Amino acid sequence: MYKAETQSTSSVDIIKVINPANGQKIGTVPRSTVEDVNTAVLKAKINFTKWSKTTPGERSLLLHRLADIVARKAAEFAQIETLQTGKPIRFSTEFDVAGTIDNIRFFAGAARNLEGKAAAEYSSDHTSFIRREPIGVIGSIAPWNYPLQMAAWKILPAIAAGNTIVLKPASNTPLTAIMFAEACLEAGIPDGVVNVVCGPGGEIGAALISHPDVKMVSLTGDTDTGKKVMESASKTVKRTHLELGGKAPFLVFDDAGLEAAIQGAVAGALINSGQDCTAATRALVQRPLYDRFVEGVVSIMEKIKLGDPMDPSTDIGPLVSFKQQERVNGFVRRAEAEGCQILCGGNKGKGALKKGAYFEPTVITKATPESEIFQKEIFGPVLLVLPFTYEQEGIDLANHVDFGLAASVWTSDITRAMNAVRSIHAGTVWVNDHIPIVSEMPHGGIKQSGFGKDMSGYSFDEYTAIKHVMIELTGQREKDWHRVIFKNKLS
Ligand code: NAD
Repeated sequence: MYKAETQSTSSVDIIKVINPANGQKIGTVPRSTVEDVNTAVLKAKINFTKWSKTTPGERSLLLHRLADIVARKAAEFAQIETLQTGKPIRFSTEFDVAGTIDNIRFFAGAARNLEGKAAAEYSSDHTSFIRREPIGVIGSIAPWNYPLQMAAWKILPAIAAGNTIVLKPASNTPLTAIMFAEACLEAGIPDGVVNVVCGPGGEIGAALISHPDVKMVSLTGDTDTGKKVMESASKTVKRTHLELGGKAPFLVFDDAGLEAAIQGAVAGALINSGQDCTAATRALVQRPLYDRFVEGVVSIMEKIKLGDPMDPSTDIGPLVSFKQQERVNGFVRRAEAEGCQILCGGNKGKGALKKGAYFEPTVITKATPESEIFQKEIFGPVLLVLPFTYEQEGIDLANHVDFGLAASVWTSDITRAMNAVRSIHAGTVWVNDHIPIVSEMPHGGIKQSGFGKDMSGYSFDEYTAIKHVMIELTGQREKDWHRVIFKNKLS
């Protein structure tokens, strides 16, 4: 049983963390109060003065130490991540934990590469230069689908740039975020630089984002939560960074490598049991390939092994919670009632899987572009497949949602690929693949998928403010430009 402490807590209440594979309690964390939020923000504010004055080299060294600690504890991180989310241990180990370690190492290097533009005389009497400065206390809110990675994506660029942070993980998956904050302390990052509070979004999250001493809010979560964050932030004109929902198209043209597209669609749709904001959710396939594509996808989906996430041979585990299982089931039942055809799966796990929040890999067709299943984010192992005839029709269908986070294009024609890349509205477009991410490249959306970037050097644009410094060069009392104010010379 994992018993975690948040860094500041006056609370006597606890949050129970449940293993979605069997419904059993695996740990507890203190449920923070609004008073705890205030204490954490105060600690972050006090520590900002000192932390923001550390050199990039000092911050880099601490981040390298953090990477070593997380690498040393990789197996423990992976195990707890799997227990609280239900994701297969192979996935936690090779994707979540390995990705986090790489991310820490990236930001350890990037901390030393924060730069502004070259100093120059843009007016002949002045030298101008740019300072890139940390913003202050960052309030960050994370979701449950990648608890460790999301904590890392929020904490690393913030502190690498000299900010301090108060993070609120999702209430059902707080354990690895707390372990990560503990690892920060062990690495020597001063107490108060990284702070964690836990509790319901509507109360604890809301208290954090509305706190007057929080200078920026970064949320990864649902688009509706993003709207609430923007509304709250508008009261004090806070900077916001929103990584929200997605409904990624998987666009297959008639010259695509069929076998690769089939396998790519299954992997892209089932990653993290489909609880991935960039997951392939809408496979749009040009007619000559459509029937064979659907047949191939269904055939692989039916062979996917659902099971115990701790078993290394399991392909996909349960959804994160029974609540999420109900939500996914609701989408599928409503699609069915509206006349969509379920080609495989479509149900909660059967037999021994009934004890967990399992949902079968599902392929659905015959939906209209206006339907709920086409438009809304399901966040489950559900792939919609639809045919199209003309190239432009495929692109129009791909763009026909409010989201714009990620998309993929499958073709062997570079001209076609480049035209589709240009026409698709999304923050990331893959060609002949779907899902891979790298620490050096930005992740973030457009449209109602939000704005701002995680990972990469671009994330520093969110976590730093640009200051223009202008230095007068003549030393004269009467500047040349004073002519526009004073009609007569004063001396
Ligand atoms: P959610 O919006 O319900 O919750 C996310 C976080 O926000 C949680 O910590 C929650 O407690 C908090 N929260 C909820 N209401 C709040 C409020 N009023 N004020 C402050 N905080 C509040 O989302 P979720 O269900 O945990 O996560 C799934 C969503 O996250 C999906 O929509 C998914 O697409 C999105 N997501 C996006 C990305 C991305 O990079 N764009 C990555 C992962 C997940």
